[in-house]
Amino acid sequence: MKPEINKKLEQNNIKPTAMRELVYEVLDKNKKAISLYEIEQQFDNVERSTIFRTLKTFQDKLIIHSVDDGSGAVKYALCDDDCTCSLDDLHYHFLCIKCSQTHCLKNMPIPKVDLPKGFSFENANFVIKGTCPDCQV
Ligand SMILES: [Zn+2]
Ligand SMILES: [Zn+2]
Repeated sequence: MKPEINKKLEQNNIKPTAMRELVYEVLDKNKKAISLYEIEQQFDNVERSTIFRTLKTFQDKLIIHSVDDGSGAVKYALCDDDCTCSLDDLHYHFLCIKCSQTHCLKNMPIPKVDLPKGFSFENANFVIKGTCPDCQV
């Protein structure tokens, strides 16, 4: 087990297991938001439900966040160390229409919204679609 991943999991009260380490590594390596299906492609013979449970644990412990970019699959990305997944930590995401990759625009926080009385905030997806630097011609 990689010591830095081990430490990261333990710091967030997640018992380090081989599976958790592998999933963390995939997310860390990608630097983008990726879907359950894409994570599954990185493994041979791992049940999708096992990966899903691992992602659920990571999300409960606030080390990853999910984004629904409208592509039909929820995507997951690692949070920054100081992220608490509160409204202040939510950022824009960018879906490239050419490569279908979803980028976290972590330095672009979403605007504050004043909801009408009686409405309570749960989550927000701010997704910009366009062409990423890799796909510009
Ligand atoms: Zn692209
Ligand atoms: Zn993100």
